[in-house]
Amino acid sequence: MLGYVLGVELTALLAVAGTLFLPHERIGGDGLGLAAALIALGMLSAEMTRGVERMRRQFADAPHVNMTSVWTMAAALLVPPALAAAVTVVLYLHLWWRSWRDAAGMHAFRVVFSACVVILSCTVVALLTTVLPGGGIPGFARPEGLFSIIAIIAVYWLVNSALVAMVICLSRGERSIRRLAGAWSENSLEIATLCVGVLVAALALWRPWLVVLVLPPLYVLHRSVLVRQLEYAATTDHKTGLLNASSWHSLAATEFERARRNGTEISVLMVDLDHFKHVNDELGHLVGDQVLRAVADLMRAEVRRYDLCGRFGGEEFVVLLPETGVAGAAEVAERIRVAIREHRMDEAAVGERAARLRLTVSIGAAACPQAGESVEDVLLAADNALFAAKSAGRDKVLSVGLP
Ligand code: GH3
Ligand code: MG
Ligand code: MG
Repeated sequence: MLGYVLGVELTALLAVAGTLFLPHERIGGDGLGLAAALIALGMLSAEMTRGVERMRRQFADAPHVNMTSVWTMAAALLVPPALAAAVTVVLYLHLWWRSWRDAAGMHAFRVVFSACVVILSCTVVALLTTVLPGGGIPGFARPEGLFSIIAIIAVYWLVNSALVAMVICLSRGERSIRRLAGAWSENSLEIATLCVGVLVAALALWRPWLVVLVLPPLYVLHRSVLVRQLEYAATTDHKTGLLNASSWHSLAATEFERARRNGTEISVLMVDLDHFKHVNDELGHLVGDQVLRAVADLMRAEVRRYDLCGRFGGEEFVVLLPETGVAGAAEVAERIRVAIREHRMDEAAVGERAARLRLTVSIGAAACPQAGESVEDVLLAADNALFAAKSAGRDKVLSVGLP
């Protein structure tokens, strides 16, 4: 990982140095003025959202998108790459100094890497504007230029996301594309800030004083992301990404109420890993955590989009299956049992010993109205069935009311 990080940083330095030798890159006059204005606006916007940014960092779930790309994207389009790199460095230094310095996990080396990733994205964008038809700022004047602009935003986002995903893959052994790509809310925020960056660049050339009007919407956008992040932190189990116990309970209660009104069936699975203590004891807690994540992913893959998977505690999971009777629930449970039984952990991520691990689960299934009317009653029935499955030798599904 160290080699990769240093490689990215060195490439960023060399790329910027290389652009200085391009014949048409002349730094001075307008370019310096624009870069200074972007730095001033970027700092002002960072100061306005400092409280929000510090709070977001506390709930951070890397990769963490920040609003700086508004100004770095504008710089990539307006000024030579070396100046865009200078804008990036100054804005990241300022953010680090004012907002990130004492946030947990925000080490200086992470900030240096993030800044280098942005510098590389900006440099690629700058080179792209020279080859795309109507890609440069003059191309903005024609409607066809829109295609080039969309390509520019996509490439900036792609370079940025791929470089960050790679470091997460190397540092945490994360292999799931979904997790590496990050949450949709983070990616949509990044795309939104890049779009605003393009608008800032266009305004800066046309009516520069209007750029100030971008600041209030940016502030509100940033706050809305914080709200989303708090909502996620309050309802989600951090380790597995499944619902946490309390949010599962309240959503399940609503679904039970709906089932009662409509007179439909609804069922619950209680899933518990067999002898999970051995996994921890023999392979360590970190591998244990990766197993929990893998089991959560397998469960999610076996159910429908509107079924609710939650983590109840330790290595115990629950699944709510609306409009499903006990026979259907038993089928789903059997699919989950087999999927987990056949799953092998990725050797590259967890090592040879953990890759030989054979995981099994025991599952209890129960349905409303046969096993009870309320969530609590049906859960209790499913839990009893789970206990019976454990007693019967584990790696089994037992369903209330089925032979
Ligand atoms: P059984 O087949 O009877 O369910 O046996 P078990 O070992 O799975 O059950 P037990 O309840 O004795 O042990 C559960 C273990 O789960 C104990 C605890 O160390 C582990 N555990 C609970 N939460 C976590 C977690 O978040 N991460 C990891 N790695 N382990 C956890
Ligand atoms: Mg267990
Ligand atoms: Mg248990």
